[in-house]
Amino acid sequence: METYRELNLEIPKDIESVKESVHRFAKDVLRPAAAVLDGMTDPREVIALDSPLRKVFKQSYQLGYHVAGLPVEIGGMGLHGLGMHVLIEEMSWGAVDLGLSLLCASFPFTAAAASGNPELHEKFVLPYVADREGSMIGCWAITEPQHGSDELVPGTPQFHNPRVTGQVVARADGDSYLINGQKAAWVSNGTIATHAALYLTTERKAGMAGGGIAFVPLDLPGVSKGKPLNKLGQRGLNQGEIYFDNVRIPRTWMLTGSNGYELELERTLTFANSAMAAAFTGVARAAYEQALEYAKQRIQGGQAICEHQLVQKHLFEMFTKVEACRTLSRAVMIYNQTSTTPSLEHAIAAKTFCTETAFQVTSDALQVFGGNGLSKEYGIEKLFRDARASLIEDGTTDVLSLAGARHILSHNGVTAHAAA
Ligand SMILES: Cc1cc2nc3c(=O)[nH]c(=O)nc-3n(C[C@H](O)[C@H](O)[C@H](O)COP(=O)(O)OP(=O)(O)OC[C@H]3O[C@@H](n4cnc5c(N)ncnc54)[C@H](O)[C@@H]3O)c2cc1C
Repeated sequence: METYRELNLEIPKDIESVKESVHRFAKDVLRPAAAVLDGMTDPREVIALDSPLRKVFKQSYQLGYHVAGLPVEIGGMGLHGLGMHVLIEEMSWGAVDLGLSLLCASFPFTAAAASGNPELHEKFVLPYVADREGSMIGCWAITEPQHGSDELVPGTPQFHNPRVTGQVVARADGDSYLINGQKAAWVSNGTIATHAALYLTTERKAGMAGGGIAFVPLDLPGVSKGKPLNKLGQRGLNQGEIYFDNVRIPRTWMLTGSNGYELELERTLTFANSAMAAAFTGVARAAYEQALEYAKQRIQGGQAICEHQLVQKHLFEMFTKVEACRTLSRAVMIYNQTSTTPSLEHAIAAKTFCTETAFQVTSDALQVFGGNGLSKEYGIEKLFRDARASLIEDGTTDVLSLAGARHILSHNGVTAHAAA
């Protein structure tokens, strides 16, 4: 029986079939695997070689989802705009922790492909496209032990303060860069990644703005990893520190130097925020659907709880919020991936709105489940924890909102001096 109907009149047939196959994968593979991973008390079990996580990666790569955003000409699926939104929402509907892990895995390879660097293309992008084992796994490494929110606010005075500089530094040395320093325990896929898009410091006197983006294979001499992080939600998304001790890369593997760093960081944040909005639309939808099913089945006081008008009101409010999330996040993803002038403030609006809304919807869904909502048996508390983590992930709601406000004001001729 149909439990969910969405406004999808505009979805073309090829994207509809992507939606169906990703939905099957999310339902049959991601959701059951994430439930098992979530229940593991030691995060080392999550990344063990015999963990369900490894099977998820292999199955995803066999289905070609690892190249979803890469161009068709090089063997990718060529999804962008609507197609990318649909893929991210469906995966996250199944399990947002695993969906985001798979999305992060493609990050450095997508950046290398976009750079047009022929050496990176031959040596890394093509083998990644051909990977059917899930053995090439990427990560986005930006956060450092002493730098979190402040890494994500390009264009602010604080970003240009020469007294505040990053902790992972690349120093030019002949034809190479030598990299030293540490990334924080928050790098998603940090413990299992084979390659990183490493956001680092190249010009210390320019403060955080003196950055660079390097493509770094993580099997190079001098790279080491920390132990996996144990955290509240999104437990299937493994995270951990990466250390760099005199790691040498050719100069040509620096995708962006300090000149283009702020612009490139803005582009990264525009995509990341748009993707997070799509992902947490999926989480909100999963919570709403599960609450609806439960409300139909739970007999209490001689009747199904969906007979109560207040439960009906809660369900309708959840439905409304899911629709609002999708409408905003889809419009933003389509605009930002097809326009020549992507909008960071719209991406931030979508991320903050959809993650905060997903947190409300998962909380309301948990309430509809009553005591069972708190039980590990029903899975709704996992959605609640997963949504809570999103209010910090890739930028806190507060810091992103300040950054969004600064952009809006600057378009209106006002310079906002606050740090974010
Ligand atoms: C699930 C998850 C996945 C993540 N994945 C990655 C990843 O793949 N790669 C990666 O590099 N990082 C990742 N991160 C890190 C994430 O981007 C940071 O946690 C985030 O940017 C916040 O930084 P912080 O944790 O250091 O908090 P802090 O920056 O220390 O902030 C602490 C508090 O102070 C507030 N605050 C800070 N500065 C200001 C200001 N100027 N004005 C007002 N309030 C302020 C914040 O809002 C927050 O409430 C992930 C985090 C999570 C939770």
